[in-house]
Amino acid sequence: MGDKEVRELLRQIPGVDRVLEFEAVRGALARHPRGIVLDAVREELGEMRKRILLGAGPLPAFEADELGQSVARRADRLAAYTLRPVINATGIVIHTNLGRSLLPEEALTRLETICRGFNNLEYDLQKGQRGSRYVHAEGILRELTGSEAALVVNNNAGAVFLALNTLAAGREVVVSRGQLVEIGGSFRIPDVMSASGAILKEVGTTNRTHLKDYVSGINDRTAMLMKVHTSNYRIVGFTSEVAMEELAALGRQHGLPVVEDLGSGCLIDLAPFGLSGETTVGGALRSGADLVTFSGDKLLGGPQAGIMVGRKDLIEKCRKNPITRALRVDKMTLAALESTLRLYRDERQALEKIPTLRMIAISVEELGRRAAELAALLDTADRERVLHIEVRSGFSQVGGGSLPARDLPTSVVAVRSGQFSANRIEEFLRGFDPPVIGRIESGHFIMDVRTLITGQEEIIAEAFERMIEKK
Ligand SMILES: *Cc1c(COP(=O)(O)O)cnc(C)c1O
Repeated sequence: MGDKEVRELLRQIPGVDRVLEFEAVRGALARHPRGIVLDAVREELGEMRKRILLGAGPLPAFEADELGQSVARRADRLAAYTLRPVINATGIVIHTNLGRSLLPEEALTRLETICRGFNNLEYDLQKGQRGSRYVHAEGILRELTGSEAALVVNNNAGAVFLALNTLAAGREVVVSRGQLVEIGGSFRIPDVMSASGAILKEVGTTNRTHLKDYVSGINDRTAMLMKVHTSNYRIVGFTSEVAMEELAALGRQHGLPVVEDLGSGCLIDLAPFGLSGETTVGGALRSGADLVTFSGDKLLGGPQAGIMVGRKDLIEKCRKNPITRALRVDKMTLAALESTLRLYRDERQALEKIPTLRMIAISVEELGRRAAELAALLDTADRERVLHIEVRSGFSQVGGGSLPARDLPTSVVAVRSGQFSANRIEEFLRGFDPPVIGRIESGHFIMDVRTLITGQEEIIAEAFERMIEKK
């Protein structure tokens, strides 16, 4: 394209004021704030200019209809919520990227009850004076874990940081080399340690650490012995680690607190669901840990929170640390957490009503039934017979750094098509409203029904129907 042609094309680009008069754009103005529509017009015209200057691809649409609709679609996108519901068809129950635990109905109702009006967040109703927000979940946490005291902060990274900063700033913390983990995002034990002001004293080796290693790591600068749950990986083979009982005895002998970062923080035994070996919070305390920290939104199945349970004197020190103010939880967290925790008073009820636990405990038979249902719905949606739909057995992961390397048997629906590549299917479903998130495995688009909520099968079938229509 010559300079003259380019100039001619650039001249054809309509002005902002004219585009604002296009019918579709007037529609967008009725739906969205003017500023957003103006941004959409400018972005759209800017892209037209760029495409003409680069001389790449087909020429942009100049006429009112098509350009107006592009602008309106762009305005819709700009005005949309950024945080939106998605359908989790990955089978990963605690999926940090997809928001971790779903709250139980009880917690949602409670959240509304507490947040609709005023409440006694920091008001002592007995004394008629200022109270503490930290009392609200403490009673139920003590009841469920058998601990002396409890403190809830914003998340578990915050709880670990607070424990280290309060009890070990400027002094040494002895940790096994096999437990210097990175939990994704940016939580790495050595980094949290140095940010807190504590000094890491690594002992043992990656695969084997013995009691004598901890013993040799203790000196007059030692403030704490720490055990970290290797949440997202497992060392197998020639391995050895020191049990909490032994570590706790060593700590007592030297007058040092022993802190366990449990990560996921399971409150009940999941052995009946094939998930044995996960230390429960109460179990860690009974084994002698002085402090245990864990998340509110992993296996516990509640809101994001960091929970600290254990010795009253240590928790009191943490509570008084000025940094606690920067990690404090709000009423929404406390309302959702307290109501989720109350469900644990009856284990059967917890398994039924806490979505995270329900999804873990769901039977293979039920998963098979639900996969067959989803496959049948997809088959009905596929009027043109362009999909190949198959129910297969597979494995789901608990996720969230819980129970690494232990997969749960499940049923998945695998879809492939001569007309749509697996990538194309994945992309279309991800762009659907609501987005459907699955995975690709050797040329198939795979959906695990474990993490679907009732009714979402129909939405997925509708998404496929739209995709086939648009072909
Ligand atoms: C997940 C995890 C954390 C971080 O917890 P958040 O609640 O995400 O802040 C810390 N330690 C371990 C061992 C974990 O598994």
